[in-house]
Amino acid sequence: MTTANAERKPGHPHRVVVVGGGFGGLLAVRGLRRAPVEVTLVDRNNYHLFQPLLYQVATGALAPGEIASPLRGILKRQDNARVVLAAVSEIDVERRRVLLDRSANEDQDIELEYDTLVVAAGASHAYFGHDEWQPLAPGMKTIEDAIEIRGRILTAFEAAELESDPERRQAWLTFVVVGAGPTGVEMAGQIAEIANDTLPRDFANVDPRSARILLIEAADRVLTSFPERLSARAFRSIERLGVTPVLDRSVVDLDDHSVTIQATDGERDERSGGEPSGRDTISAHTIIWAAGVRASGLAAALGEATGAAVDRAGRVSVGPDLTLPGHPELFAIGDMVEVHDADGRPQHLPGVAPTAMQEGRYVAKVIAGRLDGAEPEPFRYVDKGNVATIGRLKAVMDIKGVRLSGTIAWLGYLFIHLFYLIGLENRVLVFIRWIVSFVTRGRGSRLITGRRAEVGDRTPT
Ligand SMILES: Cc1cc2nc3c(=O)[nH]c(=O)nc-3n(C[C@H](O)[C@H](O)[C@H](O)COP(=O)(O)OP(=O)(O)OC[C@H]3O[C@@H](n4cnc5c(N)ncnc54)[C@H](O)[C@@H]3O)c2cc1C
Repeated sequence: MTTANAERKPGHPHRVVVVGGGFGGLLAVRGLRRAPVEVTLVDRNNYHLFQPLLYQVATGALAPGEIASPLRGILKRQDNARVVLAAVSEIDVERRRVLLDRSANEDQDIELEYDTLVVAAGASHAYFGHDEWQPLAPGMKTIEDAIEIRGRILTAFEAAELESDPERRQAWLTFVVVGAGPTGVEMAGQIAEIANDTLPRDFANVDPRSARILLIEAADRVLTSFPERLSARAFRSIERLGVTPVLDRSVVDLDDHSVTIQATDGERDERSGGEPSGRDTISAHTIIWAAGVRASGLAAALGEATGAAVDRAGRVSVGPDLTLPGHPELFAIGDMVEVHDADGRPQHLPGVAPTAMQEGRYVAKVIAGRLDGAEPEPFRYVDKGNVATIGRLKAVMDIKGVRLSGTIAWLGYLFIHLFYLIGLENRVLVFIRWIVSFVTRGRGSRLITGRRAEVGDRTPT
């Protein structure tokens, strides 16, 4: 057993361990830069990932390195912070230790001691009891997911090009996106743009414009987190791009060449405008999951260790100061928590980057304040609004009651994403890429990677 900071003597600075270098964790670390503490940031990846632009990697518009920044680079000027590359496997709340796994040196048994712990491990996909669907319909949470989806989309067009049977070709050219929240709408819109704008002249035998893109949604409208009027506009915009939204339908089965959907309320409904209704099986090889979110397993582990409630999405309950009950030294923030007010009522904060960032800043303030003997004010979430893009010059935006759609909303979307992207270099690169893509309608990162070159493997060298 290695205790990574066991050599510290009494009188050492207050030790803060932060698990997760995403939006919440990174803002907590940065917020502590002037505090008299020693911060250790642990992440299973060596980079901070800007998840809101993952769909652009999945559709070849951006390269992975343009939406991710190395954590060591981000924190290199913060003298009181260090970075550890490892996955946290367990938290021993009684002994105040974090147990690490998959560390860079493959030591299986490293522990980190803490005086204060901030857990910001985020969330992953939820398949509503059908985890076996995951390899068939990948979701998008990591760079690896985005590269996998990019490969599947591009491979589908390549397969269609080689397919002589019309039915089988159509199955390759059918793309199903499950879930019409912001990620699903963005993905479906981008696939339509690839098919209609980027690829038409690339293929000899197949017309990519004949691709069918279905956006399946269990609710009765797309973008349910937006006001109805903006939802309706997004619906029309996405239809104009060539996507078929299929509302009130839930996925009930899927395999590697089809997906079966059924009316959410079990009845046939005319609203799907002639597209699959009732119970239908659609032949499709490319299915993308954008339907559900499940908190990191560390949330349930914290719930078990502290007695805090864990909800159906796997989120652990934290109090108004974002600590676990009976553990003022233990904070949890971001996508993995449900915040409760002083009366125990859930706050239902949205699972978005601004929530995690505000929580990260808040815990840094509380930790630094406590060292000066200050009592924390409860966390107060400031709603920064909601924005989602649909495609070229098309977006919807709802900021403090100002509801916009079309080009202005789209420009607003681009500005906000550039503003929050970490690192000047990435901002400049992404800005240039967007201009080039806008002008040429091209996508510079249309690579299929990770395929074994079977023929090449057999070719004598
Ligand atoms: C495709 C997609 C699009 C999105 N679009 C938007 C958008 O447009 N606008 C918006 O506001 N929000 C968007 N979100 C949501 C937003 O990204 C999240 O709400 C936000 O990232 C939550 O921050 P977090 O700090 O809780 O978790 P994350 O940012 O997910 O960070 C969690 C970190 O913890 C690390 N980690 C996890 N488990 C462990 C472990 N066991 N050990 C060590 N490290 C671990 C991970 O590697 C990661 O770095 C989107 C999310 C996705 C997936």
